[in-house]
Amino acid sequence: MAHFIVVGGGQAGASLVTKLRNSGFDGEITLIGAEPVPPYERPPLSKAYLLGEMAQERLYLRPAQVYEDLDITLRLGSSVTAIDTAARTVALGNEVLGYDKLALCTGSHPRRLPAAIGGDLDHVFTVRTLADVDAMAPQVREGRRALIVGGGYIGLEAAAVAAKKGMQVTLVEMGQRILQRVAAPETAEHFRALHRSHGVEILEGLGLERLLGEGAVSGARLTDGSEIAVDMVVVGVGIAPATELAEAAGLEIDNGIKVDAQGRTSAPDVFAAGDCTSFPYKGERIRLESVPNAIDQAEVVAQNMMGGAVEYVATPWFWSDQYDCKLQIAGLNTGYDHVETRHGADGRTSFWYFHGETLVAVDAMNDARGYMVAKRLIEAGKTITRAEVHTPDGELKALLKR
Ligand code: FAD
Repeated sequence: MAHFIVVGGGQAGASLVTKLRNSGFDGEITLIGAEPVPPYERPPLSKAYLLGEMAQERLYLRPAQVYEDLDITLRLGSSVTAIDTAARTVALGNEVLGYDKLALCTGSHPRRLPAAIGGDLDHVFTVRTLADVDAMAPQVREGRRALIVGGGYIGLEAAAVAAKKGMQVTLVEMGQRILQRVAAPETAEHFRALHRSHGVEILEGLGLERLLGEGAVSGARLTDGSEIAVDMVVVGVGIAPATELAEAAGLEIDNGIKVDAQGRTSAPDVFAAGDCTSFPYKGERIRLESVPNAIDQAEVVAQNMMGGAVEYVATPWFWSDQYDCKLQIAGLNTGYDHVETRHGADGRTSFWYFHGETLVAVDAMNDARGYMVAKRLIEAGKTITRAEVHTPDGELKALLKR
């Protein structure tokens, strides 16, 4: 019987194994995950779960029983330590398992602050795993002082939760402004104002020089020489794709595990999906860090492991929740040269990114209708004029019919 092994029990790994079985693969399936819990969704970790508004069981993508029912062997709390692509085996320490086909869904690692600047002090946290957030949550409480390092989505979401919990929150962003890598100045301004209205101090163009304290963190020195007192620190300074296993096995790496449009790596019968990969997109090679990408790419890979030749065409979209604002993003805004602002009813706002006359992306704040229309236009390869961005809510959908 053919044996397919999937390494990484996260969003992509879980989607891949269930797609395999639901598409009729009748061989053996083993999902190996380093974390001790069944695959779960990460987005609530920096939102409802950290706020204490969501039980752990609700994070699980499927009840553990479902894997049993689908005859999928879950090896939780187990790390693959090496791959031998010639022998077609993976090692889990001393144990060796043979595979016919292998998929790597190893995700990414959060960047940490070096120990030399206090990154190893107690009460300094990253936000990647359930264990990270379970360790952090008891420190997120009223009256205490939080320092958030990094003004990307993870940092901003953590800041929103900390502020809602009654903490005194300072966020430092070393770059010129928050969301610099991922969004237009308009979107950054929207969230800057939102956070400030909730009492969060946002300091931009200012880095962390070092954390201070003995044992636990008690303060921070910033790059302008100022010092602030803090009780806990959340580090949200980006992630790096988890490529070390693939690299040691001799697979090609290029800003992630390099895969082709079908999700094949440079080694025969070894595939990869999710955060850990870079893949072809519109003549370039990109890497996406999002749930929809992990699911869609994994499902394509499942079909190709079963002998298909399906190409993955990414349709990037993403979301973020901060306070009562739901941000929805569609498309990729790289290379935009103009942003058109749309004001819908009831304070709903969206920013539409154009490259020349072509709509390439949208950031929509509580503007589900604007988001939906923009997403469908972008995915269909259609555009509208800048003036049409201001079409009244009720007539917006008609733009799709042309
Ligand atoms: P992961 O979900 O990270 O899973 C990889 C798994 O592989 C991990 O469990 C890891 O332990 C395991 N692993 C790695 N190496 C090995 C090994 N050698 N052996 C065994 N197991 C191994 N995306 C959105 O679209 N919207 C959001 O709002 C959003 N919010 C987020 C909030 C937070 C706090 C975080 C951390 C992420 C968020 N994301 C969001 C991103 C999204 O969660 C990821 O893009 C998605 O989880 C990627 O799935 P993946 O399977 O590639 O990786």
